Amino acid sequence: MSMNVLLHCCCAPCSVSCVKNLRAENINFSLFWYNPNIHPFTEYRARRDCLAEFAANEKLELETADEYGLRSFISAVYPRKNERCLTCYRLRLEKTASFAAEKGFSAFSTSLLTSPYQDHEALRSIGGQMSAKYQIEFLYRDFRPLFRDGQSAAREKNLYMQKYCGCVFSEEERYLKNQKPPDGSHPVPHNFLERLQLLTGGTGLEKISQKRVLVFGAGGVGSWAAEALVRSGIGKIGIIDNDSICASNINRQIEATSFTVGQPKASALKKRLLEINPLCEITAWDALFCRENAHLFGIESADYVIDAIDSLNHKLDLIETVCKAGVTLFSSMGMALKMNPSLIKTAPIWKTSVCPLARLVRQGLKKRGFTGTFTAVYSGEEPIRGNLHQDCAPPPMQDAPQDRKAANGSIVTVTASAGFLLASLVLRDAIGDGLREKGNEQIF
Ligand code: SF4
Repeated sequence: MSMNVLLHCCCAPCSVSCVKNLRAENINFSLFWYNPNIHPFTEYRARRDCLAEFAANEKLELETADEYGLRSFISAVYPRKNERCLTCYRLRLEKTASFAAEKGFSAFSTSLLTSPYQDHEALRSIGGQMSAKYQIEFLYRDFRPLFRDGQSAAREKNLYMQKYCGCVFSEEERYLKNQKPPDGSHPVPHNFLERLQLLTGGTGLEKISQKRVLVFGAGGVGSWAAEALVRSGIGKIGIIDNDSICASNINRQIEATSFTVGQPKASALKKRLLEINPLCEITAWDALFCRENAHLFGIESADYVIDAIDSLNHKLDLIETVCKAGVTLFSSMGMALKMNPSLIKTAPIWKTSVCPLARLVRQGLKKRGFTGTFTAVYSGEEPIRGNLHQDCAPPPMQDAPQDRKAANGSIVTVTASAGFLLASLVLRDAIGDGLREKGNEQIF
């Protein structure tokens, strides 16, 4: 029996490329109009009538569930306004799947799969859920490569081209670009991971989104590691730091600005990261890590721990706790007194060299009888001491194992590079690029 598909159409211009694609595959299909997400009514009518005209010109069957759903749509999406697009997809795909099953179609699909502005992976996943629920095939196609051509063809056909996605919220965002909505709602921007997905594929992104990472230390190294992880779609992240932001942090810590001085570092970083991805589950502990409160952070259930602590005893406690729990640890050594980010490397802790903090860590662990191993990120650059002003020169390293009162000089190009390298270790391990298996010690 040949396939008979019900193609949900969000609008005529987006349907052009889908129609071309399905015809090229010799698939039978009818168009379907159900878009209660389009407001106001004049806009709804313009898009609906344009699709009807397009269907007639192309001699295609058009089914409709004609409902201008301002009130029902708002009450469905508003309680979870940060996830409004997911609710919107669900509403439209559920209606399409149930309608297709009821009318005897053998599959359903949607023109939303053509738009690079929509969350393609979410659409694919929701399509799959509706397929299982209504026992009808979801015809998944990545129509996006044809999007630009489709839009040009739509212009040539003189189809009505809309200026915004559909709902009143998207209209507001279109015209008030850099202003926050007055109710504080904050939708996740469409496709904010699109460029990353081109590198990792959908499966890679999915794997990253399932990971939970704890970052101990939200300073010059840890803050950038956390930033990179959230910008890469990590699912859950915990940030632990008991310090508050001071002016001298502004040169190298991402949460430190002239507006945040005085705020607790972990909470300030959480606030920033939520603006990047409101769907990331972020926990901030404005607390110190030490042996006594190690139980607070759920270390055993983490997939990865990033150690960006610079106090030696707490660092040693963390290393022991994480390794005992069998959780993968990536640990930063000293990044102060360095200028050259290209000398930052990775190695098992026992093979580190040059870095004075790494030496103290190796000695401290030996003293404690620790026999495990983990990956360290360290710099092969000799500490720069010559240019330090007498007032801020650090004490000699043998007297400075922990909690130094004197400040060390540091620069963001080095600390951030170490943070990015730590995040990169997590991300590459999460997507399983096989580097660990190849025994590449320069990388792990
Ligand atoms: S922006 Fe578009 S996809 Fe998101 S809720 Fe509004 S109409 Fe639906």
